[in-house]
Amino acid sequence: MQGKDTVKSRKRSFTFAAGLVAGVAVTVGFISLVAATPAEEVSPVKARALDFYVPNTEDLGPDEMRVIACGTGMPTQRMAQAAACFLVELGNGDKFIFDIGSGAAERLSALQIPYDYLDKIFIGHLHGDHFGSIGEMFVGGMIMGRHVPLKIWGPSGPTPELGTKYAIERMREMYTWDVAGRLGMTDTRGFALEVNEFDYKGINQVIYQDNGVTIRSFPAVHAIDGPVSFSLEWNGLKFVFSSDSYPNKWFVEYGKNADLAIHECFIAVPSLVTKMGFTPEAALMVGTQIHTAPEAFGKIMSTVKPRRAVAYHFFKDFDTTAQVYERIRTTYDGPLSLAEDFMVWNVTKEGVRERMALVEEATWAPPLASPAIPPRMEDRVAESERLGWEIGYSDLIAGGKLDYRDVIEPIYREASEAVGREFEYPEN
Ligand SMILES: [Zn+2]
Ligand SMILES: [Zn+2]
Repeated sequence: MQGKDTVKSRKRSFTFAAGLVAGVAVTVGFISLVAATPAEEVSPVKARALDFYVPNTEDLGPDEMRVIACGTGMPTQRMAQAAACFLVELGNGDKFIFDIGSGAAERLSALQIPYDYLDKIFIGHLHGDHFGSIGEMFVGGMIMGRHVPLKIWGPSGPTPELGTKYAIERMREMYTWDVAGRLGMTDTRGFALEVNEFDYKGINQVIYQDNGVTIRSFPAVHAIDGPVSFSLEWNGLKFVFSSDSYPNKWFVEYGKNADLAIHECFIAVPSLVTKMGFTPEAALMVGTQIHTAPEAFGKIMSTVKPRRAVAYHFFKDFDTTAQVYERIRTTYDGPLSLAEDFMVWNVTKEGVRERMALVEEATWAPPLASPAIPPRMEDRVAESERLGWEIGYSDLIAGGKLDYRDVIEPIYREASEAVGREFEYPEN
């Protein structure tokens, strides 16, 4: 737990808490928190309590919702922030991923959640910064232990080519060689996709209902027709997520009574010019017309009045945070989080607890939620027949293999002895 990011997250979260003291509502919460916390024993040798979320060290209460920011950045890549992705975990055992922007799969892997549980992804729109990591979850998630299909919900578009089904089918086609090259080698049952495309024009339509969870979509206004926002309701708790949108009447209406309202809040126009090289014309267009400017974000939240408003979709740096914060505070004085990756919210009827997660960078596969099965050759055969390619290497490629049997065969004997059953050395 002492990775570079870990240290950085800790430092940033303290900076962040100090910045928030300026906010009226947060100041009240901060003071009452101090008053309610019994004085901790200060000692040169005794440990003190952590106020971070360390994945897999806390049970999720039966009435509790936990939301983890797994991507809060912009359409361009950076180490410090992945693009849009929020994980919602519920006390009934269900987990949902809302948007899966570029870089998000690495954040999800740091949480060490069995991949069988990360099988439901809701995409708000088809910009790469909102679904760019879908292929990594499809391939990497399978290798890391997903034995069930990856289920994807996303909007239709003004034409079939602009819808989610088209995008995901092409993604699967892009991975034609990848899938063919893995089938029959490991447990590849997770190499299956289920796409649930719904009407982007649906107004507060139910797109998912199971196990006490209702997820609805409503239109968003962003770039061209197609984008949507989501609400999730369970056990008297409500989560809403904008994906991307210019301020719109549906979010303001269907975001009402949200416990956690996550809405995009774009980097301020001056930063688009000075830090991203946009012309003033482009900065004004992108920063105020295609996206939600910080001042407009505040106005939305003043109407929605969530228990906690979460702003994301800006690079949160030492020289941008105050700018975004001050602009939001011209129009909103309620509870506010300026999101960054690995920010965590525990939501219950009693309140919303906000912390940063401390995560491990060098993660391996999490535990399997269902047992793996040995490779199935019939999957490879079926794919070779579908694609009209002959299993096995061509004579040319096979002729390039060096005879290293003398050092490889002992590995088979080693495995046979260790496991207590015979693994035969493949003759071809
Ligand atoms: Zn977008
Ligand atoms: Zn975006």
